Amino acid sequence: MSVHTPRVAVIGSANADLVVEVARRPGGGETLLGGDLALLPGGKGANQAAAAARCGANVSMVACVGTDSNGGFLLSELTAAGVNVEHVARVERPTGTAIILLTPDGENSIVVSPGANQALDVAAVEAAVMAAAAPVAEGTAASETGEASPGRAGSVWRDAQVVVLSLEIPLETALHVASEAHAAGARVVLNAAPSVQLTGDVLQLCDPLIVNEHEALEVLGASADDPDATNYARLAERLLIAGARSVVVTLGADGAIVAERGASSAAEEPLASLTAVPAYTVRAVDTTGAGDAFVGAVAGELAAGQKLADAVRFATAVSAVSVQRVGAQSSYADRTEIEAFIV
Ligand code: ADP
Repeated sequence: MSVHTPRVAVIGSANADLVVEVARRPGGGETLLGGDLALLPGGKGANQAAAAARCGANVSMVACVGTDSNGGFLLSELTAAGVNVEHVARVERPTGTAIILLTPDGENSIVVSPGANQALDVAAVEAAVMAAAAPVAEGTAASETGEASPGRAGSVWRDAQVVVLSLEIPLETALHVASEAHAAGARVVLNAAPSVQLTGDVLQLCDPLIVNEHEALEVLGASADDPDATNYARLAERLLIAGARSVVVTLGADGAIVAERGASSAAEEPLASLTAVPAYTVRAVDTTGAGDAFVGAVAGELAAGQKLADAVRFATAVSAVSVQRVGAQSSYADRTEIEAFIV
């Protein structure tokens, strides 16, 4: 068997973040003057891909951006982060955009216009697979790693060790890729954000399901008055019972909980190990994209063969570095810096 560079495929969103600082949120019919506009690369999928690449993984992204200038901007930022963007399509829709009002109370107000991300339908991801199955030109990422497999259908997610999905793209697309990637032997990391209730047949593809405390409840179809609403270990266990192969619940400055099932665990009592991973104590300046940095880092470490709890420990450091800087992708450090932070 040939030695493969660990590969991660991210199928997800890419957004231009338009950020303005304002003293307060405007009321209906009101015009407010804000600070200078900042254009930053964002979108859960793109952030996760950039974080995984900065950590050293070989990352391909499947996404749709517009033919507008924001689309070009996002492609160049991803490329600068080391992500292979060969399968990011340019479509005749405006690039996905997040309009972010930063207020001093820390409760940022955000409107997301999905735009081109909506064009990432099942046909579009299948087209990306077909394109990847075609002979690869000299000098592209796949040929450099020597992993192009002529005659084999697909190489975007079907040759990836780990496939990362989040839900700022059509749900049908995410579910299609989860099932195809799992059937092809890839490990599926599903970040159920923005959250939806998920059924057992979807959860059983997730290894891990990564959610924050609010998303954990929504995936279970539970509400904030659920008796376990703040018992995060129990929520993680309930997600295992609901079918997930493994679960990570992120808790902001309180770290994360990792729940894993045993090989021979009974369906009604699947929990074999529960690990609480504390966050690093740092001065947080901007937590935008911390969750995405975490997801990307977990995926990269899993692709490199690390155990889930160790991947989460590393990801905790990656996101702790990111919260000390402004922005999402712009706040992500490379592996050398993360390793120096951990020591
Ligand atoms: P999300 O943005 O998806 O809600 P979280 O806020 O739970 O995600 O953050 C993901 C991870 O980032 C946490 O598990 C933690 O490791 C790290 N993190 C987030 N906020 C902080 C913080 N203020 N200080 C240190 N680490 C943080």
